[in-house]
Amino acid sequence: MIRTYKYRLYTNKSQRDALDFILWQQRILYNAALEQRKRVYEETGKGISYVEQWAHFRDERRANPDTFGLVNATSLQQLLRRVDKAYRAFFRRLKAGETPGYPRFKGRNRFHSMEFKHGDGVKLYQNERGQTRLRIQNVGEVKVKFHRQLPAGSKIKHVVVKRSLDNWYVALMVEFDAPLLLPPTEEAVGIDMGLKSLLALSDGTLIDNPRWLRVSQKRLRVLNRKLARQKKGGTNWRKTAYQLARLHSRITNQRRDFWHKTTRQLVNQYDLICIENLTLGFMTANRQLALSAHDAALGEFRSLLAYKAEEAGKLVVPVPPQFTSQICSGCGTIVAKSLSVRTHRCSECGLELDRDVNAARNILALGLSVCDPTSALAGVSQEAPHF
Ligand SMILES: [Zn+2]
Repeated sequence: MIRTYKYRLYTNKSQRDALDFILWQQRILYNAALEQRKRVYEETGKGISYVEQWAHFRDERRANPDTFGLVNATSLQQLLRRVDKAYRAFFRRLKAGETPGYPRFKGRNRFHSMEFKHGDGVKLYQNERGQTRLRIQNVGEVKVKFHRQLPAGSKIKHVVVKRSLDNWYVALMVEFDAPLLLPPTEEAVGIDMGLKSLLALSDGTLIDNPRWLRVSQKRLRVLNRKLARQKKGGTNWRKTAYQLARLHSRITNQRRDFWHKTTRQLVNQYDLICIENLTLGFMTANRQLALSAHDAALGEFRSLLAYKAEEAGKLVVPVPPQFTSQICSGCGTIVAKSLSVRTHRCSECGLELDRDVNAARNILALGLSVCDPTSALAGVSQEAPHF
């Protein structure tokens, strides 16, 4: 199986300069390759192949050791393949009778990454002090914030070195054998993606945004207000806009990290995880739920949960969300409540608990009934259920 792992690079000034320079050269080469395709087509009415382009740009690279020559040869090949791909897609759409735009020449702000084959121009390694480094040809030994281990026995195939705002990242595409299945725990859980808490579990656990995320979000609001007051396009406005962009990217990273940890814990602990099957239609129908950042975050949670569970041989069961917040998880009575009512109180059986936990318990019951109506957990952990 193949997965991509992304890490932050900590570059020093000279490494940054070198990376910027090489990226710049790659962009020039990309545009030149596109230009060559266009010219040859206009002059001859015929295309030019990847192989012909490689022969041409290989010579260009040799002839200019201080500029193009700093670009790794295999990396240049990958670049030409990117051009080739863009071109093929263009002609495919043309043939299909569409009117596609000509493949874009890449401006300064539209070219952010370079591709490598691992072991050829880049190599990930640990130094004698056990620190992880990325050796990049013509750049040096770059520090890597190695916050997550690669799966055991994995092979790094493809490497993308990427700039985002002023930071550099590396994305490692790794291949590894089918992972070890986690030992079964015979436990099941229902999860409500709540209104009050981020997640509510059927065992009563409430999971909230970590404090640092709330702090960042508060700062986001402050900066947004500040931006709104400043003169659009002015020096201060641009400074604030830049701070905002940085903060956004930090929040995205921190949130992903948080979801990784949360979904890891859930998959370790439970064999069967029942969640609401929220469709986009449902979200937009409930306007109060249609908070885009909130939705996006939950979408990320769901996809991480799905793939971690799949790897571990655990099961995620989506159940229809209708009435899960209204039904009493104790006795089944419908207890109608608006979104503002935070506690579920049942006059029939006297059950009183957090509304989201009540919903999570209903979700669990629904999920179990889908899996095996007679003996809830018994059949789940021993063999894969069929439905
Ligand atoms: Zn009840």
